[in-house]
Amino acid sequence: MIQEFQISTRAEESIVNITEQVERIVAEGKVKEGICVVYVPHATAAIVINEGADSNVGNDLLTALNKMVEKHGGWLHDTIDNNAHAHIKASLLGPSETVIIKNGKLQLGTWQSIFLCDFDGPRERKVIVKVLEG
Ligand code: ZN
Repeated sequence: MIQEFQISTRAEESIVNITEQVERIVAEGKVKEGICVVYVPHATAAIVINEGADSNVGNDLLTALNKMVEKHGGWLHDTIDNNAHAHIKASLLGPSETVIIKNGKLQLGTWQSIFLCDFDGPRERKVIVKVLEG
C-alpha cells in the first residue's frame, strides 16, 4: 500500500512533526508485522526521526545544520538557483526513514517522532508512505 499527503511549510526552514499522519496510514493498512518507509520526493527536504517531546530538539538540529553548512558559502550550485545549502542539508539527513511495524503499530521509542525537514520553504511538500507486510 502506498499513500501520500501534503505538508505546507510556512518558513524558509522548518521541521514538522508528521508522526500522526504516518500512524494513521499504518492503522488504515491493517498490517500486523512489516515495515513502513516514509519518503520525500524533494531535493531540498528530508525525513528524520528524533525526539518529539521537546520542540527545541528539532530547532537545535536546524541550528546545528546552519553552523555546519554556511548559506552562500561559495557553493557552485548557488550560481544556478541560490539554494545549495538546502541541498547539502537535505543530503546530510536523507530523504527517507524506515520504521518497523509490530502488532499493527510503528515501533517508535517513547521519545521518537517522525519529522519532515524543509530547507527551502515555504513550499508544498509531498510525503509518500509505503507500508509493506512481512
Ligand atoms: Zn537547487
